[in-house]
Amino acid sequence: MTKLLKTIVIVDKNEKFHAKASERYLHVHFIYTGHSWEGWVPTEYRRTNLHVDVNNEDELADYLNRIYEQLNPQHYKEWRLAQEEFWRLEKPNASVTKGFFDPLADAQGEWVCARCQLPHNTNPQRRIQDIKDFGYTLATDTNRFCKHCGKKTTHLLLLPIPRADSSGNGYETWTPAMRKRIIRVLGAWDVYEAANSNHCLPDHKFPEIRWDDETKADNPDTMSNKEIASKFQLMTNQRNEQKREVCRNCFQTGKRGTIFGIDFFYAGTADWDTTIPPKGKEAEQGCIGCPWYDIALWRKKLIEKLQEGE
Ligand SMILES: [Zn+2]
Ligand SMILES: [Zn+2]
Repeated sequence: MTKLLKTIVIVDKNEKFHAKASERYLHVHFIYTGHSWEGWVPTEYRRTNLHVDVNNEDELADYLNRIYEQLNPQHYKEWRLAQEEFWRLEKPNASVTKGFFDPLADAQGEWVCARCQLPHNTNPQRRIQDIKDFGYTLATDTNRFCKHCGKKTTHLLLLPIPRADSSGNGYETWTPAMRKRIIRVLGAWDVYEAANSNHCLPDHKFPEIRWDDETKADNPDTMSNKEIASKFQLMTNQRNEQKREVCRNCFQTGKRGTIFGIDFFYAGTADWDTTIPPKGKEAEQGCIGCPWYDIALWRKKLIEKLQEGE
């Protein structure tokens, strides 16, 4: 049973609805040392596959405690830099949308007036949709007083939290229940450390950078244990970020990753097999043999190899 942190106040137990976007939010107040934040966090958010049952105390506490940590103002600077990196590397041609993103991101989780604080554009909804599609979490209040333009207008609030993968798969997109189940099924076993850990999170073996639109995450709560074991492994968030980096590098350079600099691949070589399509379902074949793809299997094969030599 997860307990809601004492520094979290649920201002209004009733969810706010944004019917047009089928979104729901909860009005909360987060208290940090020397700082506090008040705003709406989503409880239903289709874009990142988020559905939180606010009547389930355990699930809600688990979710809000996590968002609370992600929103800790001490992470903001680092978060802002990571977003610049994302737009520069992955959305170099989206400068119009970036014009909308910047004021929202610079607001550090405060409401921004769509009428007077965002660029003038013939189709602003399109830009906001793009930002959501890129994995950002935004709350919308269609009727909020703006002290700058003196009118009741639509306001947007962008949460400065890790971007969910557009495939709806980043660890922040799990329902808390599903995340817990994956961890339980995999025995809380951190495959990198080869040890049990309370800090590990699900990692998709097949890296998201090689997914295409058809490889969408389809991870229903009904997924079988067998499916979970074949699709996921567990590692810390930090290790997961390292893996993302390795996989991005492989995608860009064709050089597969190593662990501890050990040049051992149980299938294939240090080079990505160029006869395999770089993206989409079939691309997964090219990941097999890379240590990062299935760390436990790689370790097993490596131990076998060492024993052969005895
Ligand atoms: Zn308020
Ligand atoms: Zn305004």
